[in-house]
Amino acid sequence: MRKMPALYGLPTARQIYRVTNIEDVAAEWAPGLRFLVKIATEDDVGTVARLIKSGLTGLSAAQAAGLEIGDIVLPIPDKDEVIVLYRESDLHHSLFLTNRCNSYCLMCSQPPTKQDDSWLVEEAIDIVRHIRVSPSVLGISGGEPLLLGAGLRKVLDCIEKFHPETHIEVLTNGRLFCNPRTVEVVLSNLTAQATWLVPLYGHADFVHDFVVQTPGAFEETLAGLLALREARKSVQLRVVLIEPTLRVLPELCGFVGRNLPFVREVALMGCEPIGFALANREQCEVDLAEWTGMIDQAGKLLRRLRVPFVLMNVPLCALPKALWKHAHRSISDWKNVYANECSSCEVKDKCAGLFAWHERGWKPATIRPITEGAVL
Ligand code: SF4
Repeated sequence: MRKMPALYGLPTARQIYRVTNIEDVAAEWAPGLRFLVKIATEDDVGTVARLIKSGLTGLSAAQAAGLEIGDIVLPIPDKDEVIVLYRESDLHHSLFLTNRCNSYCLMCSQPPTKQDDSWLVEEAIDIVRHIRVSPSVLGISGGEPLLLGAGLRKVLDCIEKFHPETHIEVLTNGRLFCNPRTVEVVLSNLTAQATWLVPLYGHADFVHDFVVQTPGAFEETLAGLLALREARKSVQLRVVLIEPTLRVLPELCGFVGRNLPFVREVALMGCEPIGFALANREQCEVDLAEWTGMIDQAGKLLRRLRVPFVLMNVPLCALPKALWKHAHRSISDWKNVYANECSSCEVKDKCAGLFAWHERGWKPATIRPITEGAVL
């Protein structure tokens, strides 16, 4: 989330707006939407005021150097600030639906809270209505979105209505799909194109339940995965590479290949060094370069069992070259950085790099720039 200074030239509500410019506002205007016109001069304020007088509703104006046309924003006029909730020019887009969760994962990057935040559903719907250019992929995240039940379904249906070409990725622990009522409310007659991103941290309950700090979670997750298969939904399994999961990675990959053949893909993911991961550093801080044997073994097993896999949030210099083709530039633009050492690296443009907050936490591996000799 980006917050920046903004000077408002006209009365502005603390509601969702789409940012536009003075030249396009009249053509872009639509009833039921709100537009924040990015202005440069007092004359621009006068122009917007005249448009309002002529009958265009939902308009306001602000000076804010950091705003981009197409941003979806929440103004905070009393503090002369604006929050960018959605940036059209970003490569990765997601909607945050709740901070509540029914798990308590060791490495959770967004530690859950208990407060009622059900208003986030209406905010997400408002964001979706205001998006100008349909993104190719839109993520849904939390907390645990399945806790919202019908609220989640409303958001999915809204995305499908306004952006039918957009593919949705729902990040969920899947546990509540062990309840047929949740399956009915969320999945029944769902036509929105969605992939369900479900974490699995072990091949047995003693590992998975330990990582998510919730007894019974393994059984519920498997029941949830089977419910998704029953509903013929696309599933990506997610494994965060921390010490407890790395220790059993080949067993876990074997379990997936033999018992969950409907899974579309497995994502092996570097840990984000923030949130609970900092508090549980002993289990979460690993140098992935020291685990390449285990990761390589897991990759070979997945290939043999014909399970497609990707590596996310893992720098190329932490991986054997044979695995580079599976590695994705997966870290969202606004939190993606590179180390000083990376400036001389020849594969920087293909590398996931690091999370911006690695300086307060740790680097995912010892960073070793790739030189021509290593590339060839
Ligand atoms: S040196 Fe930097 S850019 Fe190069 S592979 Fe490592 S992390 Fe990526």
